[in-house]
Amino acid sequence: MKLESFWTDTTAAFEGQTDALPAKADVVVVGGGFTGLSAARTLAMRGAHVVVLEASAVAAEASG
Ligand SMILES: Cc1cc2nc3c(=O)[nH]c(=O)nc-3n(C[C@H](O)[C@H](O)[C@H](O)COP(=O)(O)OP(=O)(O)OC[C@H]3O[C@@H](n4cnc5c(N)ncnc54)[C@H](O)[C@@H]3O)c2cc1C
Repeated sequence: MKLESFWTDTTAAFEGQTDALPAKADVVVVGGGFTGLSAARTLAMRGAHVVVLEASAVAAEASG
């Protein structure tokens, strides 16, 4: 039995920026699950410069 969800197992790995953070952002979201990504997307679509900080993998915890 696979413990990884079908979604994370069959989609390309999310490639974020891991070296340096932007010097500035309008909003910093901590956590790249459904909640954080939804908030970040909503704000970005309204023109905000949003940074998402994810400790492990995007959409991999409860959301995965
Ligand atoms: C087994 C299981 C089954 C479920 N089934 C359903 C279902 O059938 N229907 C339904 O509606 N809901 C279901 N849920 C609930 C749903 O999955 C969660 O409510 C939802 O995914 C929570 O999303 P989230 O973004 O708040 O949290 P998460 O998806 O857990 O995301 C939080 C993210 O924040 C990151 N993070 C935490 N601390 C830090 C930090 N200090 N710095 C950086 N990153 C950090 C974590 O690594 C994680 O990626 C289920 C949950 C589980 C566990």
